[in-house]
Amino acid sequence: MYDVIIAGAGAAGSTAARILAEAGKQVLVLEKRNHVGGNCYDEKDPYGVLIHLYGPHIFHTDREQVWEFLSQFTGWKHFQHEVKAKTKEGLIPVPFNLNTLHLVFGEDADRIEKKLIDSYGQGTKVPVLELLHTSDQDLKRIGEYVYENIYLHYTMKQWGKKPEEIDKSVTARVPVKVAYDNGYFTNKYQAVPSEGFTVLFENMLDHPNITVKTGTSLEDCTEVQNGQIYYAGDKFEGKVIFTGALDELFGCKYGRLPYRTLEITFEHMEKESYQGVPVVNYTVSDAFTRITEYKYLTRQKINGTTISREYPRDYEGKPDEIPYYVIENAQNRALYEKYAVDAKNIKNFYTLGRLAEYQYYDIDAIVERAMKLSRELLEEKLWKY
Ligand code: UDP
Repeated sequence: MYDVIIAGAGAAGSTAARILAEAGKQVLVLEKRNHVGGNCYDEKDPYGVLIHLYGPHIFHTDREQVWEFLSQFTGWKHFQHEVKAKTKEGLIPVPFNLNTLHLVFGEDADRIEKKLIDSYGQGTKVPVLELLHTSDQDLKRIGEYVYENIYLHYTMKQWGKKPEEIDKSVTARVPVKVAYDNGYFTNKYQAVPSEGFTVLFENMLDHPNITVKTGTSLEDCTEVQNGQIYYAGDKFEGKVIFTGALDELFGCKYGRLPYRTLEITFEHMEKESYQGVPVVNYTVSDAFTRITEYKYLTRQKINGTTISREYPRDYEGKPDEIPYYVIENAQNRALYEKYAVDAKNIKNFYTLGRLAEYQYYDIDAIVERAMKLSRELLEEKLWKY
């Protein structure tokens, strides 16, 4: 009856479902939560404020194809994301850029700006760890300020480790910018869906060839014997795309893959504004990493305001915990590869996404990856249905 079973209705699974359905395949999407949209899911809280239940999400991309694909399912509110960090100097722009330099370094700023431009070039992005290790005393001073006031404590909270102890690619996502530019992202398109992310994903999954079952996991409907998948007791000859945590699918038999989870608390206030900006990172104080004020993120016009605080922790696999972030390092990759070998031994079984591939993806990157995998599957001559 089905040509494809997709486990997970987040950005990865929903995109794959749509592409395959449009090509005429009958697609069953199983989602173990009671809603679609994965961690992009948003909903109105009891006060009517649109909140992101799993933390703030902003869509940003330079990928034209991805932008066009998603724009079929939603209008957009364009949004240039800016973040402030709460430090002893007050709220300062992050990523640290020339505006931040002048705010913090007063009369020394002109001299240091010149050195930054001479050393790295106007408009460049420099990872903080690189700046920290320069021989020039002024540049080193900037590096030390930025390390201490923006990265060290935030990264300790987020990862339980110092910036130099985590994969370099993680802090490089937020570099020091040699430009007068407070933008958090540099992409051509930056937006939130005009009716929210949930509506976007509901529209994407709204296709006559797609059946969505929420509250249902892959293990509820299928089993594997000798590398063959069975669905409802019968041999399943179609394709299965799995977007969940691979270690958990295999009962964590080689040990748990480490993830970071977040405890996110929401607070509503009957006042116009709490912080006046979408996101403030708490980079030197408090136990939470950041406060998001949703009305500034979604540009919703509403009386009252709702904020969230994010408290990162180690993921332990408890029933209500969500594995948000993979922890990229060689040891974890090696453990992942053991599960990946088992996955490859299952016929017609494909892993897709941040959890199943154990790697960080922005929304646009995973949509592109899902489009690519779906098209490759469609081109495969071995497709039986
Ligand atoms: N980071 C930091 N201070 C900040 C912002 C980011 O130390 O004010 C570091 C931190 O290690 C974080 C990483 O840079 O995990 C990537 O930040 P990003 O905003 O991309 O994290 P995400 O939005 O994925 O949680």
